[in-house]
Order: sequence, then C-alpha cells, then structure tokens
Amino acid sequence: MFNKRTKIKDLLSGEKTGQEVTVMGWVRTFRNNQFIAINDGSTNNNIQIVIELGLIDDATSKRITTGASLKVSGKLIESLGKGQKVEIKATSLEILGDSDAEKYPLQPKKHSLEFLREKAHLRFRTNTFGAIFRIRHALAFAVHQFFNDRGFVYLHTPILTASDAEGAGEMFQVTTLPLNNAPTKADGTIDFSQDFFGKATNLTVSGQLEGELGAMAFSDIYTFGPTFRAENSNTARHLAEFWMIEPEMAFYDLEDNRNLAEEFIKYLIGYAMKHNMEDLEFLDTRLKEEENSLPQDKRSEMNLIEKLEFVLNNSFEHITYTEAIDILLASPAYKKKKFKYDVQWGIDLQSEHERYLVEKHFKKPVIVTDYPKDIKAFYMRQNDDGKTVAAMDILAPGIGEIVGGSQREERLDKLENRMKEMDIPSEEMSWYLDTRRFGTVPHAGFGLGFERMVLFVTGMTNIRDVIPFARTPKNCEF
Ligand code: ATP
Ligand code: MN
Repeated sequence: MFNKRTKIKDLLSGEKTGQEVTVMGWVRTFRNNQFIAINDGSTNNNIQIVIELGLIDDATSKRITTGASLKVSGKLIESLGKGQKVEIKATSLEILGDSDAEKYPLQPKKHSLEFLREKAHLRFRTNTFGAIFRIRHALAFAVHQFFNDRGFVYLHTPILTASDAEGAGEMFQVTTLPLNNAPTKADGTIDFSQDFFGKATNLTVSGQLEGELGAMAFSDIYTFGPTFRAENSNTARHLAEFWMIEPEMAFYDLEDNRNLAEEFIKYLIGYAMKHNMEDLEFLDTRLKEEENSLPQDKRSEMNLIEKLEFVLNNSFEHITYTEAIDILLASPAYKKKKFKYDVQWGIDLQSEHERYLVEKHFKKPVIVTDYPKDIKAFYMRQNDDGKTVAAMDILAPGIGEIVGGSQREERLDKLENRMKEMDIPSEEMSWYLDTRRFGTVPHAGFGLGFERMVLFVTGMTNIRDVIPFARTPKNCEF
C-alpha cells in the first residue's frame, strides 16, 4: 500500500506536528550519518529526516546516497535545527531503489544548464527544473481555466494534415513510402497516391485553419497542442516541436483580438504569481545570482518578480507597423548603424528591431498591428489602404515575438483573389472557403507559443530549458 504517504509540500505547509507520517522520495543529501534531505517533487523544499543512532545498520546507511529512493515513516516534530520548521524523526526506513554514487550524474552542487540539457532525463530532479516544470504545469492548467471560464470550446485540431497553414513550407513530411524506393509518376516525381493517405501529408504547423471551422459554429474555440516546424533556425527561441495555444473567435475584430490576447497573457502571469510564488522566488534568486557575475550594464533592470508585476500592472503599448518603422528609423541605434539588418517600410521586423522597440524604446510589451500584406499570410484581413493587413504581433521583453495573430479575411472574393496572387490552390482549400460561402462573419484569432510564455514567466533564456525534451536541428534525444 503506497498511497498512505504525505507529500512533502503538505508536511511543510502546516500538517500538525506530533503525528505519525510516511514520506517517499529521493535523497538530495545525507550528512553526519544522521540527517537526510529528501525530495518528492511536490516542492523545491526538502524535508529533513533525522535518523537516531541504532535505527539502521551500517550497510543500510551506506546505501543512503544522492538519488536513492526511500520510504520513511516517523513522527513529524518541530525542528531544532535552523532552516526548517519541521522534520521527521524516523522510526522506520526502507530503501526502495539504490543509486550508485559513483555513477549518478547529479551531485549536490550546481550544474550548468548545458550539462543538464544532456541529462534531460534526470534534470527534473534539480531545484531549477523542478521549479520550471511545476510552473509549466500551472500555466497549462491556467490556459484551460481561462478559456473555460469564458465559454470557449477546446477543439482538438489534427496533427497530421495535408495543408500548409502558413504557406511557409517549413514542414515535416509524413509518409509510409519507402524512402529509398518510393514509387514515382511518369514525370519522375513521387507518386503520393500510393502513400498512406493517398496524398502528401505533413505534421501541422498550426491548427488555425481548422480552428476557424470550429469558430464558425461554436463562436469561440481554442486549440492547445503540439506544433511542428522544420525551420533550421538554431536559436534560443525556436523548437522543431513546440506547443501552441490558438484561440479563434467569431464576431471579433482586431481590437477585440488584441484585448483578449493581453488579458490572456496577464491572466497566465497572475495565475503563476498566485499559485507558484515559491518556485518563482527560487528562480528569481537564481537569476540574481547568475547576473551577479555579469557587468552592470548587462544585468536586468528588474528582477523576475518585479518584471512580472510590472507587466501585470501596465497596459501593453499599441503601435502600427508603420509607426514601428518610424520609431526605428529615428532611433539612435539606427543612426549609429547598430542594427545588422536594414530598416525600411516593407521589411519583416528582425528580432533585433523587435527587441529595440520592447526593451529600449517602450520597456514593456508592445502590440504591433497592420503589417504590410506582402510579409503576412494569405488569410489576414486586407485593410482599406490596399497595402496592409489586420495582423498583430505581441512582442515581449527578453523574448521578442510571443503572439502572432490577425483578423481573418471574411470576404470570399478578397480571400480568393489573395490566394490567387499567392499561388495557393483554392480547390484543395475549398473546405476552408466554405466558411466564407455559408454564413461568413468577421472573426479573429491568434497563436501564443506556450514555451515562449513559459520562458517569460520563469525568466529562463533558452527555450530548450522550458520543454521537457527539446527537439531542435540535429537533436532528438530521449
Ligand atoms: P518567429 O518569427 O519567432 O519565428 P513566427 O512568426 O514564425 O515566429 P507564428 O507563425 O506567428 O510565429 O506562430 C505563432 C507563435 O508561435 C509565435 O508568436 C511564437 O510564440 C510561437 N512560435 C513560432 N515558431 C516557434 C518555434 N519554432 N518554436 C517555439 N515557438 C514558436
Ligand atoms: Mn518562424
């Protein structure tokens, strides 16, 4: 019977002293042959086990090593030592699983994040990753809470698809054809009619197009699932497999869309502040220590919790793309030729431009709207100026783009014309165009990259550290 155990978090936060308790977990440290710090992942704090002389024999004592798993029963008492309020005076101790101290990679000392990325199968057992993944869990839960409270339907859009939602062509192909002997057509190209689905398919880059179909019936839907992009960009902000949240709302224009996105981001931050303060404080301290070794001008102006509070308590800035370009052109950075990429109306904003706007100019999250139509997807609603579309990107300090969204083109003729201009075959998309044929309505939506949100809330800087097992170019371990 394993269920009669108390989680360490509950023991530390108010279970009454004097009672008999059982805990199970993994040894963090064992000192003086008497004090074991044990952790079960419910909190970063360990509970201290006190072993009285004679309770266990020498052989057992030697097996209490870092990483070993234990079952301990005893009395919860007030601690005499410093550093903890309560501890357990053991009356029985059982070793559930040994851990060879010579071979166990995690020592009771600080390891680099790079080292822990290689040991991703064990890194959950460290304080840093314990905190990160408890926060990630809470944020995922909060996503559902937020939309459920507002009457949105959670729609499971497909992972296998034959459409390229973004038209960006950064897709992983899915096939059961033999790669070294694929059937070909007369013209030498691969004959996908013999493939599993009878046509070329790939892993989804976005659930949006299917999401729109849902919004045309439920009014408000959201998706929350894995998304795949075969983009060969080895950056600290891109993964080949990441999770995305994509709400899609009928009867929403771009302004409604902006407001929902801002409310949503603030809700997620507020949720973590309410439910994960202990872990946030741990990460906050960690970040301060990391930055202590940096020169003054490289350190953050605000610590993690101050930053989250600041975002929570201030409105996001809203500017148009055209205004963003004007700000960049007038900036000291531009005049001193500090940007690597040139600035002019029509460019896709580079990460250095986004970061300038957010970190140097406005010093808070910025929503940029109304981008040139030529750098955006076909489904975005065309503005009256003939040059721009009703797109919005939300840029966050330290991250860059965290949300991409738009009001969608609901007018069939305009949408079809745009697809023609962009060489998107409308026969294959006729299911999508049906939404515009039968009861079309103004609608809008956005995509929030979940890992980028977790990066923002945890203050981590590499996206590989906020997903359990990162998939990036040339790396698909575990
Ligand atoms: P970026 O310019 O940063 O590559 P994008 O314009 O390709 O982003 P969208 O297609 O608008 O992004 O996707 C919506 C959101 O998904 C982005 O705002 C971002 O938060 C997230 N996202 C996009 N690509 C990735 C990726 N490769 N890894 C992790 N998150 C991503
Ligand atoms: Mn991209």
